[in-house]
Amino acid sequence: MNGTPLISAKNLSVHYGLGLKLFGERQYVRAIENVSLDIPQGSFFGLVGESGSGKTTFGRAILRAAPITKGHINYNDGEVDYDVATIGKVDLKDYRKRSQLIFQDPYAALSPRMTVRDIIAEPLEVMGLTSSRAETDERVREIAAKCRLNLEHLRRFPHAFSGGQRQRISIARALVCQPKFLVADESVAALDVSIQADILNLLKSLTEELGITFLFISHDLSVVAHVCDHVSVMYLGQLVELAPTRKLFAQSLHPYTAALFSAIPSLDPDDHHKAIKLEGEIPSPLSPPSGCRFHTRCSHVQARCQKEKPEWRELDNEHFVACHFAEELNL
Ligand code: ADP
Ligand code: MG
Repeated sequence: MNGTPLISAKNLSVHYGLGLKLFGERQYVRAIENVSLDIPQGSFFGLVGESGSGKTTFGRAILRAAPITKGHINYNDGEVDYDVATIGKVDLKDYRKRSQLIFQDPYAALSPRMTVRDIIAEPLEVMGLTSSRAETDERVREIAAKCRLNLEHLRRFPHAFSGGQRQRISIARALVCQPKFLVADESVAALDVSIQADILNLLKSLTEELGITFLFISHDLSVVAHVCDHVSVMYLGQLVELAPTRKLFAQSLHPYTAALFSAIPSLDPDDHHKAIKLEGEIPSPLSPPSGCRFHTRCSHVQARCQKEKPEWRELDNEHFVACHFAEELNL
């Protein structure tokens, strides 16, 4: 990929130790296993996969909000360069300002006892980024206007607002510290389709205008493929495919990606493509399947897949895949 990536994760693993032991051995949920990926500066980067595939854990790990078991995360925005896994206290404080999370549920995320102004101002005040109330107010008004919030609403409480408006408040709060990197985890999943589109357009134009790199996490490939310039696909804690969106549309190389694509309803009445059915549920990350983790549900499975882990490789320029048979399948 061109230039220095903003985020570069190398062999990243996150395991959660469980209290319970089986035959005297502690059990681990392998939520993320050996994930390597670069998020290019300025990209609108998508991460997609079924529920339970490890997306939230990955997003939190790169924000240093989940424990990193193994591997490295490098953050480089041109001003600072951090090794996120081993970052010290002072740098971590600065990193928290540069990287922000937009919450999943706009109803639960906003404190009902604070005014919209105070909700948006809180990160500035907690981090001590402004020197007077007037300056804070100025920053809040500026970002609220950018998020197309009515300035008269700043004095109200969040219960007065619809889901879409609440999500704008969450976005304003995430942007008020002028971050360089934003993670949105299922941020539009709870909204109606027309409001989803509205919020996505807002995020897209704001991140472009402000030069923010964006990691967009969703279980919905149709949304991700629609708005993101890169798409990465995760299955049971591992990446199976990553490519610029147009390349993925032209040719998906992994049977799991192909199955996700085939499940998107077509708007074309002449398109009678057959949905590839994913049988059963995603297996438990407590004891993932041997070899290729997808082999238990793959319609192209062969003997090798059960024994041998497929390597994560760049099959075509910027197009990565982990499947033994990616060259032959012609999905
Ligand atoms: P996704 O966001 O793709 O649905 P998650 O990252 O939330 O996936 O979860 C991945 C796996 O890790 C799931 O099996 C989930 O149950 C498990 N998990 C997530 N957080 C914890 C935790 N704090 N302790 C133990 N297991 C967890
Ligand atoms: Mg999640």
